[in-house]
Amino acid sequence: MGGTFDPIHHGHLVTAEAALWRFTLDEVMFLPTGSPWMKGDRPVSGPEDRYLMTVIATASNPRFSVSRLEIDRPGPTYTVETLQELRRQAEGDIDLFFITGADAMLEILEWKDPHEVLAQAHFIAATRPGYDLARFQERAPSSHPNVSVMDIPALAISSTDIRRRVAAGEPIRYLVPEGVHTYIEKAGLYRSEP
Ligand code: NAP
Repeated sequence: MGGTFDPIHHGHLVTAEAALWRFTLDEVMFLPTGSPWMKGDRPVSGPEDRYLMTVIATASNPRFSVSRLEIDRPGPTYTVETLQELRRQAEGDIDLFFITGADAMLEILEWKDPHEVLAQAHFIAATRPGYDLARFQERAPSSHPNVSVMDIPALAISSTDIRRRVAAGEPIRYLVPEGVHTYIEKAGLYRSEP
C-alpha cells in the first residue's frame, strides 16, 4: 500500500483491511513514499516522521507491516522501481497488488514507465464518499484488467483535513490511531500549515 501517509489515518487502515479481505491477500505492506516527486505544491513532513507514524498505526495488526524501501532509496520515488525491488526480494513467484488512492492513480499514465507499472501489479484504487468515478474512468486506465476500484466509506477521513484541523487547533482524536495523535502532538507536526 503506497501513500505519503502525512499523516496515516483510520481511512488508510480500513482500506488496507478491506483490500486484504476482498482480494484474499496474505499481508499488506505499507510503503511510505520517500520523496513524493509530483508534490511541488506543499511541504511534506520528513520521511522518518511519516514512517514512524505508519509503524505506530499498524503495530497491532499481525498482517500489516511497514517497509523502509522507498524512505531509504535516494532520489524521487518511482513505483516501478519499488515493484521491481519487491519482486527481486521475494522468494519465488508472488502476486503483487498496489493499493492507493484513486486520485493518486488518476496520474498513473504520467508515472515513470506506466505500462511496466501496470504489468507489475494489480492496482487497487480506493475512493472516498462522493468520489466522481466518471473522472477516474475518463483519465485512468480503469478498464485495464490490472485495475480495480474499491469504495471506502471510511475515506471520508483525509490527511489534508487532519493537517488543516491541527493547524486550526481542532480535534483529531478518533480520526487517527491514539499513538499517531500523541506522535503528532509531541513532534509538533502540522501546527503552522494554513
Ligand atoms: P496523494 O497525491 O498524496 O494522494 C492523492 C489522493 O489519494 C488523496 O486523496 C489521498 O488521501 C489518497 N491516498 C493516497 N494514498 C492512499 C492510500 N494508501 N489509501 C487510500 N487513499 C490514499 O498521493 P501520493 O501519496 O503522493 O501517492 C500515492 C502512491 O502513488 C504513492 O505510493 C506514490 O509513491 C505513488 N506515486 C508514484 C508515482 C510514480 O511512480 N511516478 C507518482 C505519483 C504517485 P490522503 O491524503 O488522505 O492519503
